Amino acid sequence: MKNGVVIVGAGHAGVQAAASLREEGYDGPVLLVGDEKELPYHKPPLSKTFIKDGAAQPQLLRGEVFYTGHSIDFRPGTLVERIDATARRLALSGGGELAYDHLILATGSRPRALPLPGADLTGVLSLRSVADARLIREHSAACEDVVVIGGGFIGLEIAATLAAGGRRVTVVEALDRLLGRAVAPLIAEHVRKRLEATGIRILLKTTIERIEGENGHVAGVLTSTGERLPAGMVIVGIGVVPNVELAEAAGIAIANGIRVDTAMRSSAPDILAVGDNASYCHWQTGADVRLESVQNATDQSKLAARTIVGHPGDYAAVPWFWSDIGDMKLQMVGLTTGSDRQILSGDPSENRFSVFHFAGDRLAAIESVNRPADHMLGRKMLGLGFSPTAEMVASGAEALKAALAALPQQG
Ligand SMILES: Cc1cc2nc3c(=O)[nH]c(=O)nc-3n(C[C@H](O)[C@H](O)[C@H](O)COP(=O)(O)OP(=O)(O)OC[C@H]3O[C@@H](n4cnc5c(N)ncnc54)[C@H](O)[C@@H]3O)c2cc1C
Repeated sequence: MKNGVVIVGAGHAGVQAAASLREEGYDGPVLLVGDEKELPYHKPPLSKTFIKDGAAQPQLLRGEVFYTGHSIDFRPGTLVERIDATARRLALSGGGELAYDHLILATGSRPRALPLPGADLTGVLSLRSVADARLIREHSAACEDVVVIGGGFIGLEIAATLAAGGRRVTVVEALDRLLGRAVAPLIAEHVRKRLEATGIRILLKTTIERIEGENGHVAGVLTSTGERLPAGMVIVGIGVVPNVELAEAAGIAIANGIRVDTAMRSSAPDILAVGDNASYCHWQTGADVRLESVQNATDQSKLAARTIVGHPGDYAAVPWFWSDIGDMKLQMVGLTTGSDRQILSGDPSENRFSVFHFAGDRLAAIESVNRPADHMLGRKMLGLGFSPTAEMVASGAEALKAALAALPQQG
């Protein structure tokens, strides 16, 4: 235990891993190395509030005293450039080295780049970090028209937030619906109508031919339908790619992410991976997944800490996610993979409803709009492996609560 645990990446997963190591009683050195200069912060508020509030500060994951108080050696502004998995050493940019007994890779993901002419113009931005969010805030203050490329969660959150801040926003989406395959078509359509009602223009089945500029700054985009959209800022929100290059160069197995087993171990001895960068075979569906959510980053990191202290468990957390898009709180629990039947509960016209997804008789997932009770019940039901009948779903939350209460208590 002389070198302890080095955690690379000080985002949601890395900070949780450091905290969990101490909670699990690990008393060796813990080094948390991150390339960002800030104290680690919550990413979700960046797209929901931070970019429209000029005075907003990042919400810290933990106060500074947490790191000193738990003997966590936090090294901000430090980029890890190479792993020598045989010698158990890391090379840092600038020339330093770090030795480890265990390494946790919590390097997250980064926005997918747009391979288009004009993508390098000033004012073409994407959002991952607080530095990105500050740039968006700055550019947004100086422009009226914004084009958001990509109608996924982050693109739509940004669109709604900037529109609420008075910008004229157009969303350009290549598919024939919003939110890709992430939610039921009913929800995607609901979101589209509601955003359009706030004045956001949404172009489906439309791609971008090129981004046009004046004096090096973005001025507009040309769409595949030949329309020219004015834009003082363009936000690229076309998904993320996992940061796997460090691991890949060290010979660690990669499959749409750093491949981990159920205890978060990679193919290299004593190297674990957690969060947005980790891919694994999901316990519920048997399918390979790489989830991008705070829940996944948190639960995988807790498990990685247990693996290191010698109490490995099997990753079996119920996946859940949320997104705030304008006046819609979307909450998803479970995975829809393999589901073949949907039951609607509630009324979309009231902006409060849920879609229950079943694979045969098995409850697979629940997607809710402004129905937090359904979401919380979904977490319980999926955690217990309980599937309600269609009648129970139709009867509403009280019937589901009663069905859960009637289950035999598990010891
Ligand atoms: C704007 C935004 C809104 C979001 N909203 C939601 C939401 O509403 N709900 C939800 O569940 N999830 C949301 N997410 C997703 C969630 O934030 C991610 O799933 C989560 O941050 C993943 O945690 P992570 O630690 O794996 O990655 P990150 O939090 O990205 O942390 C990785 C860190 O590693 C650093 N790093 C990478 N490589 C190196 C290296 N070589 N050396 C040193 N440091 C390195 C990165 O700079 C970064 O700081 C949102 C994400 C964004 C960007």
